[in-house]
Amino acid sequence: MVKDDGCLYLVGTPIGNLEDISLRAVRILGETDFIACEDTRETLKLLNHLGISKKLISYQKYSENEKKSYLIDLVEAGNKVSLVSDAGMPGISDPGEILVKEAWGRGVRVEVIPGPSAVISGLVISGLSTTNFYFHGFLPKSKVKEREAVLSSLKDIRATLIFYITPHSIQKDLQLLLKILGNRNGAIARELTKFYEEVIRGTLEELLQVVESRTLKGEMVLILEGNQVTAKVMSLEEQYKLYQIMVGSGINSKEAIKTISTDYNVSKNKLYEYILEKKEE
Ligand code: SAM
Repeated sequence: MVKDDGCLYLVGTPIGNLEDISLRAVRILGETDFIACEDTRETLKLLNHLGISKKLISYQKYSENEKKSYLIDLVEAGNKVSLVSDAGMPGISDPGEILVKEAWGRGVRVEVIPGPSAVISGLVISGLSTTNFYFHGFLPKSKVKEREAVLSSLKDIRATLIFYITPHSIQKDLQLLLKILGNRNGAIARELTKFYEEVIRGTLEELLQVVESRTLKGEMVLILEGNQVTAKVMSLEEQYKLYQIMVGSGINSKEAIKTISTDYNVSKNKLYEYILEKKEE
């Protein structure tokens, strides 16, 4: 008989400090029938700390496609299945996303139990702009030419950029970032919420000097200021096009001019005069 109380729970777990688990996460993990996780040893550490004993099912990169159907079969049969990652929110730079797509595709219930995530923790502690941000995850491990192409596509983004970074590639990554994106402000947020938590702030050149002078260990997030140069060279015609899009989407004229002037660091009056000229044409 098919039970109808099955659910896939996406459970956020700590990124270091075990005190960061939420009360709801503890309850759901306690009530769940199965826990799908990456490294069972990592999840066992957390469960032992919480005094919870459950059947663990390994759900890892490279076996995700073969395991996803099995896990959703369990949910369809009325089981409560919790998905956790080694650290943080499942689905961020791990195979969680594939399981969630499968769950929606098969029409089973999905709930999220939010918790810490390294991307957001790194961003807010960096001191860089949080208004708009672009999370890239890990840089590809591919050949330099391909890595350069990926980074070139990020060059003009004005939003703050966030990368997951590993100790063994950090030096090479920073060198390439400096070459392609140019020198700009940034921060390395390392071992967040753990004993050796450290935030190193400075320009890309300064961050590279630090990395060259001492070995940085542990888990790291790199946060970089968005492109500040592009903003200053946006032409009046480009501003006008953006203005038309904004007004076309229902934003009032005054508000659109104000937003463009603030976001792109351009003169409100010049844009206003240009709009008048265009209307007279
Ligand atoms: N799902 C996780 C999340 O929500 O943050 C991220 C998983 S991803 C496979 C692991 C990467 O996250 C690490 O290589 C590192 O870049 C970053 N990370 C995880 N824990 C961290 C921590 N305590 N401090 C800094 N970065 C961390």
